Amino acid sequence: MRQPPELATELAGAIVTIDLDAVVANWRHIGRRSGADETAAVVKADAYGLGARQVVPALAAAGCKSFFVAHLAEALDLLDLIPSDGRIAVLNGLTPGAETVCAQAGVVPVLNSMGQARRWQACARTLGRPLPALLQFDSGMSRLGIGPQEARELAQDDAFRAAVPLRAVMSHLACADDPQDPANGQQLVAFRAMADLFPGVARSFANSGGCLMGGEYGADIARPGLALYGAQPANAPDPAIRPVVTLEARIMQIREVPAGAGAGYGLTWHAAAPARLATLGIGYADGWLRSLSGQGSAYAKGHKLPFAGRISMDSTIIDITSLPQGALAEGDLVELIGPHRAIEQVAEEAGTIAYEILTSLGARYARHYFPHQAQIRAEAAA
Ligand SMILES: *Cc1c(COP(=O)(O)O)cnc(C)c1O
Repeated sequence: MRQPPELATELAGAIVTIDLDAVVANWRHIGRRSGADETAAVVKADAYGLGARQVVPALAAAGCKSFFVAHLAEALDLLDLIPSDGRIAVLNGLTPGAETVCAQAGVVPVLNSMGQARRWQACARTLGRPLPALLQFDSGMSRLGIGPQEARELAQDDAFRAAVPLRAVMSHLACADDPQDPANGQQLVAFRAMADLFPGVARSFANSGGCLMGGEYGADIARPGLALYGAQPANAPDPAIRPVVTLEARIMQIREVPAGAGAGYGLTWHAAAPARLATLGIGYADGWLRSLSGQGSAYAKGHKLPFAGRISMDSTIIDITSLPQGALAEGDLVELIGPHRAIEQVAEEAGTIAYEILTSLGARYARHYFPHQAQIRAEAAA
């Protein structure tokens, strides 16, 4: 049975709140910093776990026309939300056999290999019409994209150029999280050399970190993801990037334990003195990573409340001894990500990066979006 939506918050062990105004503000800000003519939005992996079906309309209402996902299936799921004068592109390119579905849906593939390029060209021939695409170069990351020799071959192939009008040529930075890394400049030189083979075709190079580097990195079309969702993309933080996500977990139970009591699986934590523990309704099944065991903390009422022992599948124990008795009660919420618990800090404690914290955000959370979708639609119509 589907739960009544008005009860979702009361029933949930944890609540994630997503500020769509901040997503839009970040999109505008990062676009300005990139210096690009156009700022696209990367909404792969369900908009980094935040909910692509909420994020895409908010950005579209703000004027975003170009969206990127990783897989064709993700693009098909979002097609109805893409503005009629907009487009959605698939970064991972085309799996063999997916060409017709992609073409008929009007989705733009990123062609990453000669096989993908030739199959897309053949599909255009079969359908009897040109099929637009983006073309990716490998400028040094050795992940996706064609090399200089292959780029030259396609650039000089009139049949390919006629069948496949290129919306843009693109490449991806391996070290954009460190603007000082010399690999960035080397990739830019390699990208420029290949892009020069396609005069007049728009260029797209920068992810969020690349946008912060600006200048030639920004190119014509910027492709930020992470920064839209409120996380810092580089080791030089930009204070104008607004936080987007708040994660709060509910206290299910509070107990007093004597000195020496153990807590959690494996009893890896023991009370050094009489302590007060609270058990939260959130665990690794919610994407609240088990690697946070013994590392992180929650925040409530001005206090940092450290995790006591291991994160379980559905629960997390915190030590609330530092708060006066009665300060917290069953049903209360504590902050796990938010103004006092930056996502970068949580990522560091979990031994990972903000990307993984966001894309792990669980399916069991009650999700609150503001402003509400109806408001966005009304503003877009006005
Ligand atoms: C994921 C991705 C992006 C966005 O990267 P962020 O670092 O999240 O801004 C841009 N381009 C490509 C090719 C990607 O795979």
